[in-house]
Amino acid sequence: MIKVCKFGGTAISSGDSIRRVKKIIETDPERRYIVVSAPGKRFKDDIKVTDLLYDTYQTLLETGKCGSAFEEVKARCRTIVQELDLAIDIEKLLVDTEKEIVYQRERDFTASRGEYLAGKIVASFLNVPFIDSCDIIRFSRGKLDNEPTYALTSEALQDKERAVIAGFYGADKKGNIVTFSRGGSDITGAIVARAINANLYEKWTDVSGFLACDPQIVDNPLSIKHLSYAQLRSLAYAGADVLHGDSIFPVREVGIPIKIKNYLRPEDYGTDIMPEIEWPSRESKALGIAGKKDLLVIRIRNHQINNDPVQIKQIFSIFEKFNFTFEHVFCGIATISIVVKTEKWKTPVKAQILDEIAIAVCPEEIVVYDEVSVVALIGHNMDSRENISRLLVATANADDDLDMLDHAVSKTTVMLVMRNGDYNRIIKAIYKEFF
Ligand code: ASP
Repeated sequence: MIKVCKFGGTAISSGDSIRRVKKIIETDPERRYIVVSAPGKRFKDDIKVTDLLYDTYQTLLETGKCGSAFEEVKARCRTIVQELDLAIDIEKLLVDTEKEIVYQRERDFTASRGEYLAGKIVASFLNVPFIDSCDIIRFSRGKLDNEPTYALTSEALQDKERAVIAGFYGADKKGNIVTFSRGGSDITGAIVARAINANLYEKWTDVSGFLACDPQIVDNPLSIKHLSYAQLRSLAYAGADVLHGDSIFPVREVGIPIKIKNYLRPEDYGTDIMPEIEWPSRESKALGIAGKKDLLVIRIRNHQINNDPVQIKQIFSIFEKFNFTFEHVFCGIATISIVVKTEKWKTPVKAQILDEIAIAVCPEEIVVYDEVSVVALIGHNMDSRENISRLLVATANADDDLDMLDHAVSKTTVMLVMRNGDYNRIIKAIYKEFF
């Protein structure tokens, strides 16, 4: 059995937490390949090293120097090395890293140095080889290039009994560093698991797996023991952030299960994520609720828009032209609702996007609804008549004035779009009804 273990930023944030990591690895010799994030928060208002590095890049652009944020990164690394009583030449490593950041002047390169430094430190502490992900994770045009990545990774690891691998980044053919989106070390872990055909991918974090609901909204929600890849994808997509939603793709292809574990409470069961769970077609079971706030909906209304591929194509090609990605699309009989993050819609091209849509499809109406949330109920056979009616009754009872802006239904997910102000109340009501 081979297990690939990915440890998140909080587990790599201090000497103490890294000692816990070591203990976890030592209790199971099958835990052979360790993927690390950059040092994360040690306490509530602490700053993640990756955020400090994005600040460093900003300062570099403005002043030509790395500035105080990078001084903070250096201090964090020095403290960890001291706490672990390591013999590595951390000063040289930090000086070389700073010089390289200034020389490269690249955003992704700068951001990737958190994982690079953490990987070097953890490898030295565990006394195992360090693998620099720029040598194994290949990107092409900003996207992961699967085949060369799997080939390079398995080649690099085949003669290594154990190794520490830096998460979050790789490189293109020319050697330029490229990062995944935030939280992307989870994807690195999944890639490594897939490349070496591991039996299990363990993701170690600071919570004991997925909870059925946000504990800040519902007290002591149930924990979710088992999820299918599709259910996990829906939960992550709808806002649950325990695991990066894209990490399932590499492992799903070959059926490698994922286990979410808590490095602070390794005895807790956690959550298993595995291939589709056989489920009796007539039975349903709700597993979790997830959601996102602070979105907005651009609703385009036009006669028969839902079955006119030309109009749909024109709308999407306008978003493509402005390279503007969105969160969800809902389609009604005469409407298309495009959900985007409010923050992102502050783009200077928003008026142009709306104008071009108006010219291209001459809609009867385009309305932008701000302060919108998405809430999703995930489980088995969620699309049954009984579930839908229970859901609607529960939401209606919670708020008889509920302004339901849209909804979408599939076997694993029912998704509702509503106003931000209704978010907590509706989640509480759905939880009460289904759990
Ligand atoms: N350090 C990166 C971030 O904070 C990637 C990761 O932790 O997975 O997003």
